[in-house]
Amino acid sequence: MATKLDISKYGGSPASTRRSPTPASLRASWTQDRTTRNHAINVQIANIRKAKKVDFCIVMDCTGSMARHLAACSSHVLRLVEYVGKINGSVQVRWGFVGYRDHEDGARRLEWLDFRNDDGRAFRTVVGEIQAFGGGDEPEDVLGGLWEAMQRLSWSGGTKIIFHVGDAPPHGRIFTSGSDNYPGGDPNGLRHETVLRKMRSLGILYYFGSINNSTDRMIEIFQQTLGKITVFNVKSTQPQTLVDQFVKASSVAIAQSVMLTSTIAFANASTLGKADLPMDPNQPDNWKNVPTIKGTSYTFNIPKSMDKIMSLEYWTRANLISGSVAIKVAEKPFSKGVERYAYYGRSIKAMSKDEAVVLKKFADEGSVSDFERYLTSLEVQTIAAYMAFEFNRYNCTLSLLLLINDVLQLLKLSVHCALFPPAANAKKVKFLKARVIKTAAYGEPRYCSEEPLYRDANFKRFNCNAGVITEFHSTLEAFAHFTYQFTEGYLVVTDLQGAEYQTEFILTDPAILCVDNLRFGQTNLGSGGIKECFVANHRCNSVCQQLGLKVIGA
Ligand SMILES: [Zn+2]
Repeated sequence: MATKLDISKYGGSPASTRRSPTPASLRASWTQDRTTRNHAINVQIANIRKAKKVDFCIVMDCTGSMARHLAACSSHVLRLVEYVGKINGSVQVRWGFVGYRDHEDGARRLEWLDFRNDDGRAFRTVVGEIQAFGGGDEPEDVLGGLWEAMQRLSWSGGTKIIFHVGDAPPHGRIFTSGSDNYPGGDPNGLRHETVLRKMRSLGILYYFGSINNSTDRMIEIFQQTLGKITVFNVKSTQPQTLVDQFVKASSVAIAQSVMLTSTIAFANASTLGKADLPMDPNQPDNWKNVPTIKGTSYTFNIPKSMDKIMSLEYWTRANLISGSVAIKVAEKPFSKGVERYAYYGRSIKAMSKDEAVVLKKFADEGSVSDFERYLTSLEVQTIAAYMAFEFNRYNCTLSLLLLINDVLQLLKLSVHCALFPPAANAKKVKFLKARVIKTAAYGEPRYCSEEPLYRDANFKRFNCNAGVITEFHSTLEAFAHFTYQFTEGYLVVTDLQGAEYQTEFILTDPAILCVDNLRFGQTNLGSGGIKECFVANHRCNSVCQQLGLKVIGA
């Protein structure tokens, strides 16, 4: 039997000795009062709840060449239901299907199954019985299939998805130069622009499963209307691998879509509808030609106790540590997140080599509260760094005990073996060290956040503050759980994004859900958010268990 460790030994202090936080945050200038904030949060949580109701429709070519894919599509659904249930327990999916063939196939040109909320059972049976036949010339009635999905199915979910799988393009010379009975396009006059505009107006998110390159041109053309399309690989000729590819594609499509739909709730109204700044994905050719800007840097000391995390006095300007800095900033940003643009930069050092950094600026800056907003993001990242420190320390202590256990086992002192749980496989969690920089290059103060350049090709978002897990890692979900337990339910560190390495995760830009809803900016959804976005979705995993965390939802 595993012995649970007492987490309170590893940091913090008993809750009874803590000062309760003062009623209003000192960094609350972005909002008016708790009542207004409560109202805004309730609206956001209602949106998130809605976004977690998903209509998922697979639109699939059912002509002669598609038998393998129909079989994989039918059998992947039960595994998918199980996977979604395990990873994102609060997401509810209704399953729908449209199969299309070609104009020569008469009454069996189109077949469909309306959305069902039955864990994919009807989907599995119906799709399993569909036969792959017909087709004729190379293109198929792709547009008819997509149109049917929008017309026939009863779309009502907060998140609407079409996952389209096919091995041939639509009719028409713009899509193919192969043999085509309708080179002028759809014989019923259906145009792709009409289909795609309808899709956009219904708020349906489109994904494609690619089998060969005959549909590449179609995706290029579709992207002109829909923007960047995520294309999944469903090319395997091995039946089991093909099922795996379907499970992966469908689960990513569902998680990404729910995240996207619920993120719209957070996008600052003032940046929505505003054209993006022109971007440049490359670093400047020669940093020597980029002017140096002088400024002041600000950081907070890592708090190292729960008292300090909860004490609003700790996070005031009086406690900032400042220093002089010199930086260079690329002229154009290289990317844009929900709220901020990211620029390449250089931190100029007098005594050593310049450091490559990333500078982040709010897209809608220019208000009096700019400095406070930057300090809020600094506060979030500093607290997350402290939580990671405690998590790693706790995990380390556990590892040491495990080592002792191993030694005892080696010495055949089996009587002690039962004292300790099996080896923990948690990786370390680290956050990039951030600071706020104030410059006055153009007469008025300008701010940005700075962190070391850590651009990794594998940079990903693992989960978001709406509580959707886009890529599951037991360590990261256990880390979120750890922060909840360590702070006795006061906060949860979420929105984990960064890169995974052999022994650690390097993360940046987290968000904090906290019972004090006037702290941590607009991504903090208060105690309602902790309940809806963390507790309702979290399923304890092996790392939670090995760390001895109290089971959530038991
Ligand atoms: Zn857990």
